[in-house]
Amino acid sequence: MLAASVVALTACGANDNGGAASSGAPSESAAASPSSSGAASPSGSEEASPPASDASPPASDEPSASAPSASSGSSGTKTDVPGKSSDSSGDDPADIATVAEPESVTVLVNKQNKLPDDYDPSDLVYPDVRFTFTEKIEKREMRKVAADALEKLFAAADKDDVPLAGVSAYRSFARQKSLFEAYVKKDGLEKARTYSAYPGTSEHETGLAIDVSGSDGKCAATDCFAGTKEAKWLAEHSYEYGFIIRYPEGKEDITGYKYEPWHLRYVGLDAAKEMHDKDVTLEEYTNALAVSGSAGG
Ligand SMILES: [Zn+2]
Repeated sequence: MLAASVVALTACGANDNGGAASSGAPSESAAASPSSSGAASPSGSEEASPPASDASPPASDEPSASAPSASSGSSGTKTDVPGKSSDSSGDDPADIATVAEPESVTVLVNKQNKLPDDYDPSDLVYPDVRFTFTEKIEKREMRKVAADALEKLFAAADKDDVPLAGVSAYRSFARQKSLFEAYVKKDGLEKARTYSAYPGTSEHETGLAIDVSGSDGKCAATDCFAGTKEAKWLAEHSYEYGFIIRYPEGKEDITGYKYEPWHLRYVGLDAAKEMHDKDVTLEEYTNALAVSGSAGG
């Protein structure tokens, strides 16, 4: 009974990434798919794709992996639209506030709270851990404090014989913005918002979040990661290194996103432990208003 109303897209932005297949412009196909299949093209197609041998064609969502029931349609259900705003892509919809302390490790970024425009973390580094790709590119970066913690987490996982790999970490505001704007141009603001994160609202833009998979890259940022030994290990141990599973199962109505066992968010040791022990989300921890699952409705 995952709330049917929960947005179809993944927080990791099935689409905020140009997608491996498409080079320059955001892939048209990816943009088109959400409405047809809801499952928001398993975000695997997003960052994951390059290495995976069994990579699914990014274009059409892979039926097997995408649990269509859980995230049924953007079609009928959520017409209860978020922004009644006109589609001037420059103006933020009225339902999105700008966070006051973007540098805070417990900053709350979600569909209703965005980073300031052009927020650019000053301390991005490349964590010295395995990734599913080898290039030194933007999505490999994290803020220093999170990168250091991630190295410890990966080392511990290795020790427990559950080797992990990074899939996608930082994503710049500029990148998110250009992708989002291309979608708006194509489909209009309201529709674009149903399948792509509004610039500033993707947690990947904080430099504190990362999508993780097993070292083989299988099920990277897709639903089939749930239940794997890697997912179990992460659920059990992430907090010991200052990370939380940001979008837990059963909390979809609070976070506004479906269960994403692969998406880690650094919040610091104390906060992570408290959230783990109390079984609360960052929204609850920060006493924020719960984000309604109904795509802003
Ligand atoms: Zn993510």
